[in-house]
Amino acid sequence: MSTTCHGDCTRFATPNIRPADFYKNGAKRCIVCSCSYRMHGNRCPCCSSLLRLKPKVKRKGPKDE
Ligand SMILES: [Zn+2]
Ligand SMILES: [Zn+2]
Repeated sequence: MSTTCHGDCTRFATPNIRPADFYKNGAKRCIVCSCSYRMHGNRCPCCSSLLRLKPKVKRKGPKDE
């Protein structure tokens, strides 16, 4: 299985999602295409790779903002 961006993501992607609302709205992200989707299913309609459902959890610095 090759996970390559075919350029179809521009048709499916949802560009206008605020980062704060991103995962709340059930949006998912394809790290291959660097696109956001608001859809059912776990796979990117473009490259068929698994979509990220949860935000990154990175707590390393004392101040994160
Ligand atoms: Zn793509
Ligand atoms: Zn993709």
